[in-house]
Amino acid sequence: MLKRYPLFLLLMILSGCFGGRGVYHTIGRGETLWRISRTYRVDIQEVAEINNIKDPTEIEAGKRIFIPGVSRVRKVVPYKGIPGEKEKEDKIVIERDRFSWPVRGELISQFGLRDGSRHDGIDIKAEEGTLIKAADKGEAIYVNSGMRGYGNIIILKHKDDFYTVYAHNKENLVKTGENVEKGAVIGSVGDSGNADGCHLHFEVRQGKNKRNPLFFLP
Ligand SMILES: [Zn+2]
Repeated sequence: MLKRYPLFLLLMILSGCFGGRGVYHTIGRGETLWRISRTYRVDIQEVAEINNIKDPTEIEAGKRIFIPGVSRVRKVVPYKGIPGEKEKEDKIVIERDRFSWPVRGELISQFGLRDGSRHDGIDIKAEEGTLIKAADKGEAIYVNSGMRGYGNIIILKHKDDFYTVYAHNKENLVKTGENVEKGAVIGSVGDSGNADGCHLHFEVRQGKNKRNPLFFLP
């Protein structure tokens, strides 16, 4: 039996919660990712994912990072070891075994900012017709041929309110409402929509938040 998903839910999933708004912050001496995130009152995980920072010790003075959802640059007061004030750890969550790679190939575009605008997924280059495999067990809640920009697109719903999006497909090989196992073939790679050459555009959403797929892949 096909379940119906309301259009607003799909639009919410596809539109995300904020646009390209944000500022570039140049990291100063002694600043940590946690302190920067706290100063701007943004989630450290979101800052890490949009900037592809998997290891917080990677951050160094002079580098620029993007702070999403804010409109002005702030001064970050570095930790000075005030008695009684403990510096919090830069804790970033990476779940490498949550999803599996939908196709194997060269990563040609990362999640985050690309030429000043947001790229909500990763692009994996593959030959036309390469089979696309479900990144996890789930249900195909949205299958559309010819969605603006995305071309042939499939959205799977998984546990913990996660969704995965597969776009620019040559063919969609599942139907709306179908349940698939992890690794099951769901489509093939193409260049439908506004794709620049054959590749899979792959997104991970949790609720309405856009997540960095590389934080969830082996
Ligand atoms: Zn893409």
